[in-house]
Amino acid sequence: MLDFQPDADELAVAAIARRVADEVLRPAAARLDREGGFPRESLATLAREGLLGIAVPRELGGRGAGALAYSLAVTELADACASTTVALCVNNMVAEVVAHFGTAAQREHHVPRLCDGRHVVGAFALSEPGAGSDPAAMRTRARPTDRGWVISGSKLWITSGSDAGLFVVWARTSDDPGARGISTFLVPGDTPGLRRGRPEHKLGLCGSTTVPLDFEACEVGPEALLDEPGRGFRVAMMALDGGRIGIASQALGIGRAATRAATVWARDRFGTAVPQAIQFALADNATELDAAAVLTHRAAWLKRRGLPFSQQASMAKLMASERAVASCNRALAVLGAAGQDRELPLERFVRDVRVTTIYEGTSEVQRIVLARDIVRRFAEQGRA
Ligand SMILES: Cc1cc2nc3c(=O)[nH]c(=O)nc-3n(C[C@H](O)[C@H](O)[C@H](O)COP(=O)(O)OP(=O)(O)OC[C@H]3O[C@@H](n4cnc5c(N)ncnc54)[C@H](O)[C@@H]3O)c2cc1C
Repeated sequence: MLDFQPDADELAVAAIARRVADEVLRPAAARLDREGGFPRESLATLAREGLLGIAVPRELGGRGAGALAYSLAVTELADACASTTVALCVNNMVAEVVAHFGTAAQREHHVPRLCDGRHVVGAFALSEPGAGSDPAAMRTRARPTDRGWVISGSKLWITSGSDAGLFVVWARTSDDPGARGISTFLVPGDTPGLRRGRPEHKLGLCGSTTVPLDFEACEVGPEALLDEPGRGFRVAMMALDGGRIGIASQALGIGRAATRAATVWARDRFGTAVPQAIQFALADNATELDAAAVLTHRAAWLKRRGLPFSQQASMAKLMASERAVASCNRALAVLGAAGQDRELPLERFVRDVRVTTIYEGTSEVQRIVLARDIVRRFAEQGRA
């Protein structure tokens, strides 16, 4: 039976996130968006509150609270500051990857540092110029040497790349084509030859950094290799499955904040005579975001129980990001001209939400993955 009802521990984590969102993230969000840069202070608070490794096992310094607690917490935090939340999501994803695929030494060295902020935050370096939706087209290479590996190449759009203390990096280690021959490396931020570029000027999430990286003969030891050589594509795809629950939850938080802002505005502007068109907009927002939350919590529930959840995470990410974008746009319309006002948070929500349909697999990529799965499933049933 499916029962997505959070238990007391999961609700407790969500309550901590809501308190931190209200007391720390919300008051800083507009300034962070305006001034740009990396949300270092907010992340330090999140580390102190134990939110940088929500689903990471306790023995590695995480909360061990599971994917549903993670989803609920991310929604609370994104309701206040989507910029800080994207850095938190990537850190949680990196910590989970190392906890899952790392050797005992890798796990014990890196995961506690990702959870308590000693690594500042983790970064996930997969995308490259010309290899975003199709990471198997990547060109970054890692050549074996008698002292380990030398990484050469470029990455693009790397969240928190300006300040991260640890990078998970994917690179080709053989001439095998496509997804084969890709391996995963753990590269500390101070490794010589790792160059961080200037942060991109983005539409949204302006209070987080997204940077290009250059690896110029970047030398790492043998201990940098994560999992076996040639299995990196699988590591990346498994990480993104979990990551999509985070991005769906982030989208839900932004959509909820926009809907609340529109509701308060409509009540103050129209009193008891809210026009029916606006009532419909609020009703559609609430219905669509609730439907997306059910899909997101289903994926998280499956992940927490160790059951397959890849397809459900794709559905959740597709639905939550698309419906959150629609909800923010409707909320903007409710405010009329005031929706354009930079003194109000709504225009920030509209800018911040847009990328949720793009990163960790665009909506088109989710549809391609889902369609492939649907065709295979019906074929297995002998019905196609
Ligand atoms: C703010 C931000 C933060 C990011 N953070 C990270 C990060 O931390 N780490 C990281 O590795 N990456 C990160 N990314 C990169 C992100 O994951 C990629 O931008 C995304 O995967 C899309 O790749 P692309 O930009 O190269 O677009 P492209 O792959 O060039 O796609 C362009 C368009 O074509 C469509 N398209 C592509 N292929 C197909 C197809 N076969 N069928 C149908 N449509 C297709 C896409 O859906 C899209 O609409 C980030 C991006 C942003 C904007």
